[in-house]
Amino acid sequence: QDLTTYVLGRADELGAAPALIDGPTGRVLTYGALARQVRATAAGLAARGFGPGDVLALHLPNAPEYAIAFHGALAAGGTCTTANPLSTVRELTHQLEHARARLLVTAPEHLSTARAAAAAAGVEQLFVVGDDDPGAGALPFAALAGDPADAPAIARDPASALAALPYSSGTTGRSKGVMLTHRNLVADLAQMQACFPIARGDVLVGGLPFFHIFGLMMVLNLGLRAGATVVTMPRFDLGRFAELVERHRVTVAHVVPPILLALARDPVVGGRDLTSLRVLQCGGAPLSPEVVAEVTARVGVPVLEGYGLTETSSATHVNRPGREAPPGSIGQPLPNTRCRIVDPVSGADVADGERGELWISGPQVMRGYLGDEAASAATVDAGGWLHTGDVAVADAESRFWIVDRIKELIKYKGYQVAPAELEALIVAHPGVADVAVIGVPDDDAGELPKAFVVPAGSALDPGELIAWVAERVAPQKRVRLVELIEQIPKSPSGKILRRQLREQAARA
Ligand code: ATP
Repeated sequence: QDLTTYVLGRADELGAAPALIDGPTGRVLTYGALARQVRATAAGLAARGFGPGDVLALHLPNAPEYAIAFHGALAAGGTCTTANPLSTVRELTHQLEHARARLLVTAPEHLSTARAAAAAAGVEQLFVVGDDDPGAGALPFAALAGDPADAPAIARDPASALAALPYSSGTTGRSKGVMLTHRNLVADLAQMQACFPIARGDVLVGGLPFFHIFGLMMVLNLGLRAGATVVTMPRFDLGRFAELVERHRVTVAHVVPPILLALARDPVVGGRDLTSLRVLQCGGAPLSPEVVAEVTARVGVPVLEGYGLTETSSATHVNRPGREAPPGSIGQPLPNTRCRIVDPVSGADVADGERGELWISGPQVMRGYLGDEAASAATVDAGGWLHTGDVAVADAESRFWIVDRIKELIKYKGYQVAPAELEALIVAHPGVADVAVIGVPDDDAGELPKAFVVPAGSALDPGELIAWVAERVAPQKRVRLVELIEQIPKSPSGKILRRQLREQAARA
């Protein structure tokens, strides 16, 4: 089955039920209208000669049109590459060129970047959502619509045809195009639904960006497949988020750790009625158990952690509602998902309960990186095992914990120190609002653990914090340096941008 049939196969039946609500305006798109507009878009694309093998780039903030353009392109037989709307011209040009995008869909506020990148990358046509007269060289998105009855019938092999081509954010290296087939994505949705049911009547909030695999799959596509309603937010803002939860009686919210941190501590949440929520699902980056406890105490909602990568079509592990693993665990693997914990050097399985690199195999594992055989072979081996680059540990009940990313471990005098572990500890200090730990080069020790700390009030003494950490960890894990800063730089999927901090430390 192809992804669009899997996700929207029942849309005509669901008819007047609300599929998407545009957060800023309250505009509702019903399932019936969504299905018609997807067919109309597919027809319009086919009429322009867009079909199998072609790529449409989506450079859009979250809005109902995201679903129309994404599934319209798939229904026409093509592939969507999803771009961060905040990309620079250089970043977007790279993605458009590399993906060989023929068409680009953007929004008025990002049109100037889109124009420049599209021209540099040789994109044939630009479409703009929400602007009837976007000026020379661009057309309104509405102009793309053809007659829904003319939507093409596409025959394709779901195991090889590409549906989505997201680009990794490049927090650990060069940004790569991740080739995800229809089968990959359908499998991941089915696996997730078996463990974490979302139903008709549920209301989800799309606060996570749809260009990233987490928002695209777990919020937009899982929500639509379930017949639920997805409320879209063009950019995350905690006050708006709380307001939308209250107004639309949101039942399930997907979040990344920085959002949970804000939900735990930001006063803006205070006056809002969030009692409609039944669960907060969190993934994308390491999560401190302390923050989970604070959120549960404040909002009164369980936090279920999950884990996954763009390379696995989003999720591979999740905590099942009612069967939560102990705090800090990412839960158990999804059905049909096999895991090994391996010594990354020898490739041998480590002993039970030992740490090692997490390897994953399953139907959701990507086909490879576009145009990069070497990186593909280094990431997915001949046996089909994806080497995640994450250090993990599991217990006898197959519950997993992520310790950190291999590349981010600090090498202190031959020891490996996990920044995520120190961050989870330090964020529990009453004087700390947020924290990031990196290794800074040192002649004697190799690297020294250094904490960048956002103070919660004015009276945080770095020396006192260093002593506080030293009382709680083994000597090699002590933080040796503390610098107070105003904000920790983070990616849209909630990851700390350590490269920026390393550059800052090198300049200091
Ligand atoms: P890059 O590899 O360029 O940094 P990216 O940031 O786009 O790419 P993603 O696919 O968004 O990569 O992230 C996958 C990674 O996110 C995982 O390998 C893991 O390190 C981290 N991650 C996801 N969920 C969790 C979690 N629950 N706990 C800890 N880490 C997590």
